[in-house]
Amino acid sequence: MHFIECGAMRDRILKLLEDYDYDRIAIGTLGSHSALNILRGAKDEGFRTVCVCRSRERIIYESFGVADEIIEISDYSDVLNPKLQQKLREMNVIMIPHGSFNAYIGKLDEIMIPLFGNRELMLWETDRAKQREWLERARLKMPKRFERPEDIDRLVIVKYPGAMGGKGYFLATNPEDFYEKAKRMVEAGIIREEDIAKAEIQEYIVGANVYFSFFYSPLLDRVELIAVDRRYEPVDGLGRVPAEVQIEAGLHPTYTVIGNFPVVLRESLLAKVLKAGRSVVDVSKEIAPPGMVGPFCLEAVFDDNAEMFVFEISARIVAGTNVGIPNSPYSYIIWGENMFMGRRIAREIRMGIEKGRLEELIY
Ligand code: AMP
Ligand code: AMP
Repeated sequence: MHFIECGAMRDRILKLLEDYDYDRIAIGTLGSHSALNILRGAKDEGFRTVCVCRSRERIIYESFGVADEIIEISDYSDVLNPKLQQKLREMNVIMIPHGSFNAYIGKLDEIMIPLFGNRELMLWETDRAKQREWLERARLKMPKRFERPEDIDRLVIVKYPGAMGGKGYFLATNPEDFYEKAKRMVEAGIIREEDIAKAEIQEYIVGANVYFSFFYSPLLDRVELIAVDRRYEPVDGLGRVPAEVQIEAGLHPTYTVIGNFPVVLRESLLAKVLKAGRSVVDVSKEIAPPGMVGPFCLEAVFDDNAEMFVFEISARIVAGTNVGIPNSPYSYIIWGENMFMGRRIAREIRMGIEKGRLEELIY
């Protein structure tokens, strides 16, 4: 989908929604990433649920019993099949997009099903330059970016397009180090020779990583902090091996995400986090009207001076919110009841239907 076509796309989707029976809306998603979270939340809010999953993952959605209907596909790209899409529309399905929509399907403009959220912002998320523009306009501090490997003058982290969930990232300290490691990545088949120049080279901030998952409610005009987590990655195991053994054994553990831990932030730091969430929402309204709808995540590192650097934004539910089921300290403080991202999404849809404002939540 090109940015230019977004308005027309939204009109087409809203037209599809006109045929929906609002008394029989079902919530659906792809079986991966945060589907259990989304489907449990939908059931808690009284919706019928539909899970579209591959045969190999069927066991997950069967085991937990949160999908009223399971539709099996052989590959994620089958979601682009017009027949399947028609079937989902006939079931009055609103789809909740998550990480796999961008990572495995990509073609958001071929998903002719009402999605919860803002597709245009999901497109911004896939483009690192756009992400940076968005975050800089929101006046958030970001790690320095190096245009060319030749400019590397400190510890940097190197990220490739295609490198999903942190797989294939590496650290480098100077240009020679960069080229040597990039070559190794090509040899290992993780990236292609022509990808070397496409690296995103960022200053590596040594500090505490924290991921903030917010929900922006267009209906309440409110930014809610719903869950906070950090990742569990193979690189975390390095601390268990003494430095001299790491060198001797030539260890190169990766940033491939394996899981997540919940985090509670030192309270005085919340002020800057909440301000950051609000300014990101404000900017979203300028760059992709009507702006943010629902979940988004800011990925940050706090350095020795408790300075916050934001290195990424996701404009959809992230899997880190899975730590917040049935609630996080923050969602409980706001709601006084069990609330987690999947349920928060379903709650907004339910309120949208009741208030006759569902269209505002759909793209
Ligand atoms: P999966 O269903 O595990 O294949 O994940 C779908 C996409 O989401 C992939 O791009 C994963 O790297 C990413 N992903 C899954 N779980 C997480 C997580 N806990 N944190 C960050 N990214 C994730
Ligand atoms: P990402 O896929 O961008 O979310 O990054 C994956 C992992 O790499 C994060 O969980 C962090 O551990 C690490 N990381 C990414 N960028 C930076 C950075 N600029 N400084 C420090 N750590 C980073």
